[in-house]
Amino acid sequence: MKTINFYQLAKEGVQNLQAYEPGKPIAEVEREYGVFNAIKLASNENPRGPSPSVVAAIQAALPHLSRYPDGNGYELKRVLADKHQVGMQQITLGNGSSEVLAFIARVFVGAQDAIMYSRYSFASYSLIAQICNAKSIVVPDQGWTHNLNAILTAITPKTRVIYVDNPNNPTGTWLSSKALWQFLNAVPQDVIVVIDEAYIEYVGDIDTPDCSRWLDDFPNLVIARTFSKVYGLASLRVGYALSNPAIADLLNRVREPFNVNSLALAAAHAALKDVVHLEESVEMNRQGMQFLCAKLDELNLAYIPSATNFLTFDLEQPSLPIYEALMRKGVITRPLSSYDMTNYMRVSVGLPEENQQFIKALTEVLSAQRRVEVSTV
Ligand SMILES: *Cc1c(COP(=O)(O)O)cnc(C)c1O
Repeated sequence: MKTINFYQLAKEGVQNLQAYEPGKPIAEVEREYGVFNAIKLASNENPRGPSPSVVAAIQAALPHLSRYPDGNGYELKRVLADKHQVGMQQITLGNGSSEVLAFIARVFVGAQDAIMYSRYSFASYSLIAQICNAKSIVVPDQGWTHNLNAILTAITPKTRVIYVDNPNNPTGTWLSSKALWQFLNAVPQDVIVVIDEAYIEYVGDIDTPDCSRWLDDFPNLVIARTFSKVYGLASLRVGYALSNPAIADLLNRVREPFNVNSLALAAAHAALKDVVHLEESVEMNRQGMQFLCAKLDELNLAYIPSATNFLTFDLEQPSLPIYEALMRKGVITRPLSSYDMTNYMRVSVGLPEENQQFIKALTEVLSAQRRVEVSTV
């Protein structure tokens, strides 16, 4: 029998694709490292979990699992339209915001077209480009954040979509309102600009815009939002895009019919109503961030100031071995080698006791290393 090389049959972009590498799940680390009660500070989830009203809403939805979900997500869209002061026809629901980010490319980007994004921004953008066989134009950063002027200069006639995450993952940096406004003004209107606002709820009084307020000013603007971070619903996979109605209509055409399941719809709807849970989560994050910054200062480790629920810091040595040593102590973080930031580690702000456990483990790992260095001199 002839053996067929299926890799060669795959589209060119997919042949070279390396799948997205998520943070390690707790159960996997416990299994592989023989540790118990591991804590995960690797994926920027809400360590408090979702609002209790979310759990109640899911329970109330359970008896109806045999029915298809509402394919239009009417109830959730109604609350979202109210929250953002937009029409329901401006909303596209996704199986996580990752899915709506991909819809945008599915609608607007053909093979040989170009997608633009910054170096050191969210890993999904490059995967999306590869899957469409599109060209990636990766624009060098400026101090760990988007260099908006460089992006403008690099736009070509082939550029269809620009992805800008603000605040930026994995660095935590943000763009000022003025800079982003001027950028949006300068981008040609036939280029779609996606502002991915996965962490926008955490920014507090930092000067960075909620771009959903600018939808009327820029018809080519698409906002991506998620329930995976501050709302604590990462496992349910629900996010959405806000855009002008024509773009939303196109995005909805490429959606699978029931892409958001009924438990996710009910949970997101309930989550939006619990403003207190959100505010408490943001406040706990603010305090945890302060704690982590102070402790990294004590350890003489430089970090990138962050507007989010994670902190990226410089270990001044490859982060991978430190990441593994931390896992042996039951603490899961994110080494940034896959982002070409070999010496950097990203840690999510956890519960107060988790932050302490992380600092304790990191201190132990680094001082054990120093002892080895001293004894081998
Ligand atoms: C976490 C994250 C998302 C959200 O992903 P979901 O698919 O909604 O879970 C989107 N963009 C960025 C930059 C993120 O960090």
